Amino acid sequence: MVSAGRTELKKVSIDREKRPLDFCFFDWTEFKIRFFHKFSKKLGKFTAYKVQLAQLPDGKHEQDFVIDTEFFKNMENPDVLSADVKVHLDLVKKNDTYDCTFHCKGMLQIPCDRCLDPMDHEVDAEYHVIVKYGDNYDDGADNLLVIPYSSSYLNVAYILNDTVVLTIPLRHVHPMGKCNRAMASVLSRHRSGGEEFEEVETGIEEEESDD
Ligand SMILES: [Zn+2]
Repeated sequence: MVSAGRTELKKVSIDREKRPLDFCFFDWTEFKIRFFHKFSKKLGKFTAYKVQLAQLPDGKHEQDFVIDTEFFKNMENPDVLSADVKVHLDLVKKNDTYDCTFHCKGMLQIPCDRCLDPMDHEVDAEYHVIVKYGDNYDDGADNLLVIPYSSSYLNVAYILNDTVVLTIPLRHVHPMGKCNRAMASVLSRHRSGGEEFEEVETGIEEEESDD
């Protein structure tokens, strides 16, 4: 289960050259830098998700992206089996702010919590964020992202990943009666000893009691 939140993942946009000077304070800053280094190599696989910001003229701009199965493989996210999501970005630059709205629409296949067979999950999500330049990377405020002056672009791969992944409900199961019941009952028996699987087992009981 992917539980990484949007704020956690956006830290990858920290600029390597422009490290804040205060990282002896532990914590967030140091954490962000480590996080950035961990993912900076991975970002190389996401060059298609760059949005050029510097030198962008004032006015409306648009960009399209595709989030496919390969995208989630590169994200090393085993919870998405396949994906076909189209993303349209509407960007308005005005007064040195970049007002970005991402419209994400499409389909994922994810494993059912109850029987592990693939199930369809429809994605229809929107994410709005205002991007500004500043001295240091800062994603502390909701829907506001400050990126350092030295970044000429923003890589939106992690923003898109989070936007799409957060549409997946914590508990996702096939509609009533559509589960692979043989597999579900095997899993139920297998899991009945382990409390970590209590949620899944409870799911089967719920379905059976509703039938
Ligand atoms: Zn199922």
